[in-house]
Amino acid sequence: MKDIFVTSPLLPPLEEFIPYLEKIWEKKHLTNGGYFHQQLEVELASYLGVKHVCLFANATLALLTALQALRITGEVITTPYSFVATSHTLQWNGLTPVFADIDPQTYNIDPDRIEELITSKTTAIMPVHCYGIPCDIKRIEKIADIYGLKVIYDAAHAFGVKQGGESILNYGDLSVLSFHATKVFNTFEGGAIICHNERIKQRIDYLKNFGIAGETTVVAAGINGKMNEFQAAFGLLQLQHIHTAFEKRMALDAYYRELLQGVPGITTLKIPENIDWNHAYFPVRVGQNYPVSRDEIYELLKKNGIMSRRYFYPLISNFPMYRGLPSAAETSLPHANHIAEEILCLPIYPDLDLSDLERIVNIIKYPFVSVNVQLDKAS
Ligand SMILES: *Cc1c(COP(=O)(O)O)cnc(C)c1O
Repeated sequence: MKDIFVTSPLLPPLEEFIPYLEKIWEKKHLTNGGYFHQQLEVELASYLGVKHVCLFANATLALLTALQALRITGEVITTPYSFVATSHTLQWNGLTPVFADIDPQTYNIDPDRIEELITSKTTAIMPVHCYGIPCDIKRIEKIADIYGLKVIYDAAHAFGVKQGGESILNYGDLSVLSFHATKVFNTFEGGAIICHNERIKQRIDYLKNFGIAGETTVVAAGINGKMNEFQAAFGLLQLQHIHTAFEKRMALDAYYRELLQGVPGITTLKIPENIDWNHAYFPVRVGQNYPVSRDEIYELLKKNGIMSRRYFYPLISNFPMYRGLPSAAETSLPHANHIAEEILCLPIYPDLDLSDLERIVNIIKYPFVSVNVQLDKAS
């Protein structure tokens, strides 16, 4: 039986990509803000419902640049419940991550924990819209306004997510999207900063191109963060297929929920009302009254060729380069530590077969039967 991974990239039919490649060959303009780069920035802004898009080679470079663009210094309050890139980009900018615990319902940074962590060195908040579920954007905005802090959202999971009909990327000073192969919308590797005015877009565009502002003018110590024409062209093609991809994801999500309903010890993610979600992930909690532990069911699925993922375990705050920080203490992050022990992300991607989904659910429903099958095979 074929292995099933937690995600599989959205790849439109190959023949549809050929005309884009022909155009690149014809123009011989491979990078540095070429034809497709410009077009993708415009089309993405319109599709996402945002003012400006600055494309990047990946989201990590975009996060690094976002922090530079706003001249962030000192301490940044962030979540330990994320992919390591969130904190790493703070560290690479010489900033100190300060971890705040998460809300046990949404898995996002808990606004109640932010205020108590603010010091005279705090200059920004970097929340994550975990699994694409919006943070409490209104309350974060209020705290930021009161204390004069910048807000940079790691929106790597939040492509296309809306709340009350409006893109959540319009909140905060900047938001960063990832177009990595494993994300809902991909350009092989890629990312973008979403910003709200022309002036900041100009600064970001300089910073991602070595700070070059003219033939003989360099205005800042920039980096090379540019997206190339191959990536941008692929993004344009993929944009034509994203609607169908979202519809398939939504159907898979609904089927999982239907089949997993009432399975003792398994809890699915609660989707808040009034959001248009992207169904980027299918996380479940493996609780105390489930017959085996989270790690046991993870291993059992793996033995059956199903690669679920423990996103996010271990917590960022428990990795060696961060665990010495005062804010990383397990006792101050009880919810994040608890959820990291119980979380399991099940496979979800547009091409996932319903029969494979049923097989995954059956293993979760009947772990002991699945163990026996496995033992029979081994003997
Ligand atoms: C994927 C991801 C990133 C990094 O994105 P890249 O495009 O791979 O650099 C950052 N933060 C979060 C939360 C992610 O999931």
